[in-house]
Amino acid sequence: MDYKICDGASCVGCALCADVCPHGAITIGFDPKGFIRPVVDPMACVGCGICSSVCPANRKMTPSDGKRDVYACFALDCEVRKRSSSGGVFRLLADDVLSRGGSVAAVGFDKDFHAVYKIAKEPSGLDEMMGSKYTEARADGIYKKVREELTSGVPVLFVGTPCRVAALKSFVGDRDNLITADLICHGVPTGRLLEKFLEGKSGVRSVSFRSKERGWQEFSMRIEGDETYSRSLYSDPYLRTFLSNAALRDTCYNCKFKGDGYLSDLTLGDYWGISSVIPSMNDDRGTSAVIVRTERGREAFDRIRDKMRVAPSTYGDICSANAAVTKSSAKNPRHDEFFDMIERDEPFDKIADVFGRPVSCKAVASERFKRAVKKILGKIKR
Ligand SMILES: Cc1cc2nc3c(=O)[nH]c(=O)nc-3n(C[C@H](O)[C@H](O)[C@H](O)COP(=O)(O)OP(=O)(O)OC[C@H]3O[C@@H](n4cnc5c(N)ncnc54)[C@H](O)[C@@H]3O)c2cc1C
Repeated sequence: MDYKICDGASCVGCALCADVCPHGAITIGFDPKGFIRPVVDPMACVGCGICSSVCPANRKMTPSDGKRDVYACFALDCEVRKRSSSGGVFRLLADDVLSRGGSVAAVGFDKDFHAVYKIAKEPSGLDEMMGSKYTEARADGIYKKVREELTSGVPVLFVGTPCRVAALKSFVGDRDNLITADLICHGVPTGRLLEKFLEGKSGVRSVSFRSKERGWQEFSMRIEGDETYSRSLYSDPYLRTFLSNAALRDTCYNCKFKGDGYLSDLTLGDYWGISSVIPSMNDDRGTSAVIVRTERGREAFDRIRDKMRVAPSTYGDICSANAAVTKSSAKNPRHDEFFDMIERDEPFDKIADVFGRPVSCKAVASERFKRAVKKILGKIKR
């Protein structure tokens, strides 16, 4: 049967449809732009509609915004903080859940550095989940695994982009033993971009999109391989292309799971702007913004509180320097040109020459100067 799960344009690539199909009629593939798309086998599909009924693109779900306590915080453990993108809250939440015999579902890499959702039951499994991977992550299979864990009665922490949290909630509903944390999300670029970028590197052992070797605010792309590659967000062509907003999934330009649409217990992000708001909370090693949305989120946050330095903040202050909390990224007017290049399979360097150009030395110097001034003003305020 020829069946349409949703209208296509609003598919977020969560892959929940593949997990729920009782006939095994849905597999996960990639569209010509390189984004995750379900593929329906017309021979196996009986048109039962189960996939459409749970699809987060079709459903209107109740957001979890009864409460909005907001904090700036970071892990006291320097090593955790160093390896995390922001202040290391993810690792603290995850360690706590594991210490209570639970499981953590979050994003790691497969052997070819494709981002994928996985389950960790041991602290060693958390290491690869640390750090933001600025690429679309495959989630097929994870919802069923999380449901199994929940059914066995153990506490489960699920961390991902707001659309993947929406998919999980659509599937399992609200469970007493489930804590969900979503991310303040800029949007996800096509996985083809990272594939192309890594094609030119040999013996790759690790990829960090948020290395803090130049500091948290001037984060860097670092790749360990036969050669070590490291460039800051001002000059790295992958990060520049990601931040150009030409490479994102179409639904990311109009995300319905941010603003008033979050469905999580907690939202985690970078506390950009902290040097102006609470200067004492910024040492350029990473500060998290945490939004506590539910009572379960409050309990989870309180359980790790003694492992962090915490300062209460406000929703307005978090949003003032971090538009991504409430707004989707604006589409680059040359978005179609970018995807024409992807579809023509142009090499990474050619694409980056158009979309990943480095910031000028003058602009970088000005950014660094502004940060230095803020740091001095912060010290005076203190
Ligand atoms: C694609 C993307 C865009 C983001 N955009 C913003 C933004 O605009 N503003 C902002 O303030 N914060 C953004 N973040 C969130 C931020 O980068 C940190 O992930 C967050 O602050 C948590 O950091 P941490 O120090 O607590 O832990 P970390 O150890 O850095 O935690 C990383 C967490 O993110 C999950 N994760 C990593 N990659 C992915 C992925 N591709 N898809 C889903 N989950 C993933 C991991 O499973 C882990 O749970 C984004 C994250 C991602 C993945």
